[in-house]
Amino acid sequence: MKKDNCIFCKIANGEIPSTSIYEDDYFKVILDLGPATKGHALILPKDHAADLFELPEDTAAKAMVLAKKLGKQMVENLKADGMNLVQNNGEAAGQTVQHFHLHLIPRYKDDNQHILWNPGEVSKEEMEEIKNTIQQK
Ligand code: AMP
Ligand code: ZN
Repeated sequence: MKKDNCIFCKIANGEIPSTSIYEDDYFKVILDLGPATKGHALILPKDHAADLFELPEDTAAKAMVLAKKLGKQMVENLKADGMNLVQNNGEAAGQTVQHFHLHLIPRYKDDNQHILWNPGEVSKEEMEEIKNTIQQK
């Protein structure tokens, strides 16, 4: 199902043009308009889901299988040195388009990109507390 006024629904279903590198019944994969690196692509499901938590399980599974297949092809053909998969959920996590998308970001030695975080610190007690919070019913 498509959602009105969703730009990625429109792109995934061909109502707005894009540079598509792959398409099947479930997904369209497009080149990102603001690429982090050469070949940065987005896997877009054709049916609307705002984020990973709304995405049906079988579509989530298919997206990861596609990322593996297409990612390998991209790394080989673009002669990349690695690849980051990035998937943001919620504004706090950096999601700017509220239609699930999985970033495929080819990485090149010295590409000067920073898809990293600043490591923090955590005590054993805090880890135990966090574990219990996550696991609570
Ligand atoms: P996120 O921050 O995870 O929501 O990522 C959204 C991504 O979509 C960004 O990398 C944008 O550059 C990209 N983007 C937004 N609009 C378009 C568009 N019309 N075509 C291709 N990529 C887009
Ligand atoms: Zn949508």
